[in-house]
Amino acid sequence: MDSTGEPTHARCAIAECGWCDRDGLECRYCRGTGWWRPERPYREVSGVIVWSRIDEPCRGCAGTGKEHGPVVAT
Ligand SMILES: [Zn+2]
Ligand SMILES: [Zn+2]
Repeated sequence: MDSTGEPTHARCAIAECGWCDRDGLECRYCRGTGWWRPERPYREVSGVIVWSRIDEPCRGCAGTGKEHGPVVAT
């Protein structure tokens, strides 16, 4: 079983966040999982580029899985 299939947080760090109060809006980046799994190129010592999949909490929704609109894209 995949233990990382659940959002990491019920709410984001913002107190009384209006986006967290909404239901039924899944984060467009992680589709409501709270995680995103990009594949990152990784260069081995030999110079070969391999792709490794990483799991990290979604930055679009702070791991809540809820859409947070036009969040900072810095
Ligand atoms: Zn929020
Ligand atoms: Zn997300």
